[in-house]
Amino acid sequence: VVSVKNLTKRFGQQVVFENVSLDVRKSEVVAIVGPSGAGKSTFIRCINRLHPFNEGTLRVLDHQLSAGEALPPRPVLSDIRTRVGMVFQTFNLFPHLSVLDNVTLAPMEVKKMPRKQAVEQGKQLLDMVGMLEHANKYPKRLSGGQQQRVAIARALAMDPEIMLFDEPTSMLDPELVGEVLQAIQRLAKRGMTMILVTHEMQFAKEVADTVVIMADHTIVEKGPARKVLESPKTERARVFLKRVL
Ligand code: ATP
Ligand code: MG
Repeated sequence: VVSVKNLTKRFGQQVVFENVSLDVRKSEVVAIVGPSGAGKSTFIRCINRLHPFNEGTLRVLDHQLSAGEALPPRPVLSDIRTRVGMVFQTFNLFPHLSVLDNVTLAPMEVKKMPRKQAVEQGKQLLDMVGMLEHANKYPKRLSGGQQQRVAIARALAMDPEIMLFDEPTSMLDPELVGEVLQAIQRLAKRGMTMILVTHEMQFAKEVADTVVIMADHTIVEKGPARKVLESPKTERARVFLKRVL
């Protein structure tokens, strides 16, 4: 459902990554790990075209995106943004809306879903992430882990075919990390296609099918999660893993 070939991204003169290739199958869970500044966030933002890229090709669902600054036609862009959900490091919920309204807004506005149906769906999703009992609260009254679980439910409300996660737990206190990871694991079990940037190596090993290590401006290793994390082939991957494991 995602096919990346020889992608290169620069900011001005600075190369963020080059020659990055990656194929993601339906229902595959891909974890991207690597040192800070390796270009992980920038890479996954290219997938839903929050960033343009300079060279290479990128197919997302049934859309072929080309290199260059020009935005894809509006209908293509909005189709991608609808079908590819994203959850960031910071939860950025709408502060003036209740938890339930955060989750029902996009399907009602963008998909013209009737309120009743949006509410029903929203409650189901909040239940799935363990937040149903907080449906009427406002975001500022929730813990970080709770807010992040609402952010996940909100992304799922658009019924995406692919979910992108950029370090969804890195801003959380350690004791709140587990509840967010559990929600993501539940999604994986339901067959959601996911690309997840994370520092949680144990989680990557347990939940991801494929692990990608990004460093030195490119992918230095990729393959089955266990294999890559337990017996990496490249020296660069070994150096990175030794530091984080
Ligand atoms: P971290 O683990 O710290 O989140 P990362 O692997 O996600 O790191 P990126 O955020 O993708 O790394 O950044 C890769 C490089 O691109 C960095 O050197 C960063 O300074 C640069 N960069 C990121 N965003 C921009 C931008 N909007 N303009 C210019 N340079 C940028
Ligand atoms: Mg990042």
